[in-house]
Amino acid sequence: MTAPVEPYDVVVVGGGQAGLAAAWHLRRQGMRFVVLEAAEQLGHTWDRRWESLRLFTPAEHDALPGRPFPAPTGTYPGKEAVAEYLRGYATAFDLPVELNARVTGLQRTDSGFRLSTAERTYTARQVIVATGPFQTPFVPPLAAGLDGSVIQLHSGEYRSPAALSDGAALVVGGGNSGFQIALELAGTRPVELSIGSTYPALPQRLLGRDLFWWLTRLGLMRVTADSRLGRRLQTRETLIGSSRRGLQRAGVRFRPRLVDAAGRTVRFADGTSREVGAVVWATGYRSDYTWIDVPGVVRDGRVVHARGVTEVPGLYFLGLSWQHTRGSALLGFVADDAAHVAAHLVRTAGATGALTPQP
Ligand SMILES: Cc1cc2nc3c(=O)[nH]c(=O)nc-3n(C[C@H](O)[C@H](O)[C@H](O)COP(=O)(O)OP(=O)(O)OC[C@H]3O[C@@H](n4cnc5c(N)ncnc54)[C@H](O)[C@@H]3O)c2cc1C
Repeated sequence: MTAPVEPYDVVVVGGGQAGLAAAWHLRRQGMRFVVLEAAEQLGHTWDRRWESLRLFTPAEHDALPGRPFPAPTGTYPGKEAVAEYLRGYATAFDLPVELNARVTGLQRTDSGFRLSTAERTYTARQVIVATGPFQTPFVPPLAAGLDGSVIQLHSGEYRSPAALSDGAALVVGGGNSGFQIALELAGTRPVELSIGSTYPALPQRLLGRDLFWWLTRLGLMRVTADSRLGRRLQTRETLIGSSRRGLQRAGVRFRPRLVDAAGRTVRFADGTSREVGAVVWATGYRSDYTWIDVPGVVRDGRVVHARGVTEVPGLYFLGLSWQHTRGSALLGFVADDAAHVAAHLVRTAGATGALTPQP
């Protein structure tokens, strides 16, 4: 361990789109800050996603503050383009990012916060946690009943059909990932999709316009998490551009909720069962804030906050799912929350006189 550095005005934990959007604001405010990113390069969240992934948000809704997304309006960029955009964004604004810097501890101190990585300790007056809405892959415990000869992958590990041996595949999970992976696999093998909950589906384009054109114009991207509609919307994922009928046309067979797995046999809620050789678990993620040792911030696994501002002075979150609106965890909309958090943070710094004077 090296000696702690001077206290930063702000440390941002996580260099994904949320962390970089925050950094853009901090740079404009002349704050002394650093972004600590666990991975060896920026954009890695997107690098890791499956190869054929295309955004469901068109290019005009994929930009972070201050820099348009370099793709024509109405096109749907692939994941490499997003990763490249994030890397280019940090370079263009000369954002101070430290790579290979996973924060493993966050504590409060008399003057702010202490953050630890394997290499060193950082001190900061304020901290923004932007570690992403998708952290630890969740696989239902019943998966443990499957025989070791069954290939099992979480959707976060799935890259392409080549990852599975030849033969039929079962995809579990009826969200966007489950639908998209099942559709892709159906091009090379028989596929079944097991769905526990049915979600509403919206087409990617309506009357010649992209869905997000409509959602924005109708004010639906501004519906807040605490409104009556927002509370309803956030309990259910919405399928975008996928439909049951579309998958059926591609040959995907639908099955109800998976209720049991033993050896190479799985059983569904309707009492039917089948043998499986490969299962893709598109069953979501859970948060991991075990590294945050600050009382009053995480209760029952959930962050306690008002639009990213916690009850602990100087501690903020950014990029949470439905942090404020549906757009809070989307590329082109996180900017609003970033501006809100940055404004709060600057006010706090001003009030305590803790802003480092700039040369
Ligand atoms: C399959 C899929 C498709 C999607 N498609 C779209 C789309 O079409 N359009 C759209 O707008 N959004 C889309 N999203 C949603 C959203 O844009 C992403 O989830 C986005 O990656 C969230 O950005 P983030 O910065 O909040 O988190 P992340 O991208 O997850 O970034 C968090 C960063 O924090 C780092 N980190 C984590 N823990 C630590 C730690 N302890 N210390 C230091 N660093 C840490 C991680 O390495 C990571 O780089 C999609 C999501 C998925 C899963």
